Amino acid sequence: MKDEFIINVSHELRTPLTQIYGYLELLSEYQEHLDADTQRAFLDNAKYGCDELMLLVNNILNTTRASSKLQAPQLEDVTVIQLVKEVSRLLTPIEGAKHPLKISIPEHLKVRADTQYLRQIFRNLISNAFKYSPSDTPVFIDAFPIMAKQPGMRQEICISVKDQGPGIPPAEQPFLFEKFMRLQRDLSGPIRGTGLGLYICKQLVETMHGRIWIESTGIAGEGSRFCFTLPGSSFPPL
Ligand code: ADP
Repeated sequence: MKDEFIINVSHELRTPLTQIYGYLELLSEYQEHLDADTQRAFLDNAKYGCDELMLLVNNILNTTRASSKLQAPQLEDVTVIQLVKEVSRLLTPIEGAKHPLKISIPEHLKVRADTQYLRQIFRNLISNAFKYSPSDTPVFIDAFPIMAKQPGMRQEICISVKDQGPGIPPAEQPFLFEKFMRLQRDLSGPIRGTGLGLYICKQLVETMHGRIWIESTGIAGEGSRFCFTLPGSSFPPL
């Protein structure tokens, strides 16, 4: 299992690395012949590759760290829409062009979260939505407050990332957040993956006192909706 993991992971790491190298090489070889827009686009693509690489390395480190204990989260008030825009700006040059992002998040909505952890969760969920749904289908990102269970309890915020892809078969949903889990159809399919992203998302969400789950009928085209909750920020009151 360990050997298989290393082979798979090395393969995954090589893809963004090749992309970064390729674009930087093009820039250094042909800089004088490229107009400013093309240079900018090549740099954006290289940056996107770096971000991919960072996500993978973070996922792997979080998974393999001794006893898999995550570092204690550095909780602060995070404005959700700002973070989502930041993450999607990085994704936009390549993948984002194929999937319009429909963001519906109140301007001032804040959660109590670790910024790095939350960024990693969004990167995993949004890149999965891009990866597993057909080109030109939109990806929806929503966030809204939900009623506190009891009066006086801190409010929770529900965040979701929804796509219009093949969905997740109900029979496989209970195992979806396990380490190395990939759906049967993807084990032999063309889409690459390590089966670590959702496992890490669950660890990160739970360490920030939230829950994560999937909603999907498993019918192609109806897609998947990944939802997670996080405590709301107490100031200002929502
Ligand atoms: P990876 O994508 O690297 O394999 P993840 O842990 O992120 O790992 O996802 C686990 C598996 O769940 C994927 O391999 C894929 O089979 C399935 N999956 C994840 N997100 C989606 C999605 N949005 N639509 C369809 N299947 C998905």
